[in-house]
Amino acid sequence: AKAMGRNRYEFFTQNLQAEIISHKRTADEVLAGIDNDEFVTWYQPQFNAQTNELTGVEALVRWRHPHFGILAPDRFLKIAEDLNVAATLDHIVLQTVLKDKMRWTAMGLQVPKVSVNVSSRRLHDEGLVGTLRSLSIRPGEISFELVESIFLDEHEDIAATNLDQIKALGIDIEIDDFGTGHTSIVSLLKLKPKRLKIDRQLVMPILNSPQERALVRSIIDIARSLGVETVAEGVETMQHAALLRDLGCDLLQGYAFARPLGFEDFTQMALANWAR
Ligand code: C2E
Ligand code: CA
Ligand code: CA
Repeated sequence: AKAMGRNRYEFFTQNLQAEIISHKRTADEVLAGIDNDEFVTWYQPQFNAQTNELTGVEALVRWRHPHFGILAPDRFLKIAEDLNVAATLDHIVLQTVLKDKMRWTAMGLQVPKVSVNVSSRRLHDEGLVGTLRSLSIRPGEISFELVESIFLDEHEDIAATNLDQIKALGIDIEIDDFGTGHTSIVSLLKLKPKRLKIDRQLVMPILNSPQERALVRSIIDIARSLGVETVAEGVETMQHAALLRDLGCDLLQGYAFARPLGFEDFTQMALANWAR
């Protein structure tokens, strides 16, 4: 029994060691990937629930890994945060979005407002507003998606100052993943966001669960009474889309319409199906 215990211990340390080495390797690869322009921006469309028009686009980061191909953020975002480079990725995405918007305009493609995800570290960066100014973003063309836990941070004052100035630059604020974690009605009143994104954990069960349906209905009603637009995430079927429209949700985003797409695929789809 003792020998077995020891084996188990050795097995455990070996595993842990392997994990540490692989984590370190991934960390080095992330840093090299930034230098080698391996991080790319994909796009997922959002549609007006009533008219089905293309009304928004969310930009989502992907890693074009030299060996593993396209990787989603769950494979690298946590490591990027630990390495303090999540804000760098956010910035790469924003720059790409602005560049891609110019390409769309040159093609005669009208792409509406693009939403980018903003990590906590970036919102708390004192240099953020200066950086944004230097990008000469036109009012209304970009919107920032923030998760509410960002505002429970210790440097709330910097975040609040940044938020005011971001809004003054004509960048809209959206609350992401609403309905999970610490989101509260009070923060809605305080933040006065343009849009609120209802988390897919709440959206996905609405067809079968009266509880989630009631919750989504009241979120939409409250948002509306405050003049805040609602976006449903994770809309996977047309039944979901129909119910959300009946509940009064403004925008729909999910696999029922399109998955996130790279620049070429998105442009092709937009030109063929969504351009007015
Ligand atoms: P999120 O902000 O909630 O983004 C929506 C996620 O839901 C995306 O995952 C998208 O691919 C996925 N999704 C869209 N429609 C559906 C659907 O119908 N069903 C299901 N099951 N999923 C759907 P993705 O692209 O893997 O991104 C994961 C998370 O990584 C994002 O969640 C966001 O928190 C973060 N993220 C992505 N890009 C960036 C970025 O540029 N900067 C930062 N800081 N975070 C990012
Ligand atoms: Ca988001
Ligand atoms: Ca979300």
